[in-house]
Amino acid sequence: CGIVGILGRGAVAGSLVDALRRLEYRGYDSAGIATLEAGHLTRRRASGKLRNLELRLAQEPLGGAVGIGHTRWATHGKATENNAHPHASAKVAVVHNGIIENFRQLRDELRAKGHIFSSDTDSEVIAHLVTQGLNEGFAPVDAVAASLPRLKGAFAFAMIFEGEENLLVGASKGAPLAVGFGEGERSGEMFLGSDALALAPFTDTIAYLEDGDFVALTHEAASFKDAAGLPVERRRIKTPASA
Ligand code: GLU
Repeated sequence: CGIVGILGRGAVAGSLVDALRRLEYRGYDSAGIATLEAGHLTRRRASGKLRNLELRLAQEPLGGAVGIGHTRWATHGKATENNAHPHASAKVAVVHNGIIENFRQLRDELRAKGHIFSSDTDSEVIAHLVTQGLNEGFAPVDAVAASLPRLKGAFAFAMIFEGEENLLVGASKGAPLAVGFGEGERSGEMFLGSDALALAPFTDTIAYLEDGDFVALTHEAASFKDAAGLPVERRRIKTPASA
């Protein structure tokens, strides 16, 4: 029910959990984070409160300067660790809020192409759909762009990619997602969050995705595309200092 993403310069695991704590008010039943540790997708997940995830991270710390995090409010599949986000293939990890209404159809189609699903969620289909695009030779951003029109329902998601340490992708359709722009000593750091509150520890300069948008963030730029896939600019605003 809450999403965060950080394209940072140092270890981000602690900051991801801090941001998730600011989204606790929305309610949740499990939580998790994924980072690129030495270029490789690595996850830690736990059912129950964020405290459980923190205990997990204390036992098995997670390095990496790019990552995503999630607090889940289960709609499809029980509130188990295995159904907690992020969901991943060998090539991508995703955190998702909302519902993918046509997930059964997509899952059947992707299973027929050899994808192995390991959770009961609707969300996992996003990871495999984008992976299929990568398998077919699309670059990461193009694989996301090609996948979006196939996803029915209301959703926001954030995604990172195996071996891509300068890329964080977000998409939003009927569910909110904000980009945060690092400034000053955080210049070049980029953030994604369900709301400005989650991003407040990092930046007060944000831009909301509009309905159907997706965004590719690198340390150098934020590239927004609208629902038609055309490049667009989204206005940066200052959030109130109290956010
Ligand atoms: N439908 C997804 C699930 O059940 C996401 C739920 C949420 O928004 O947290 O895992």
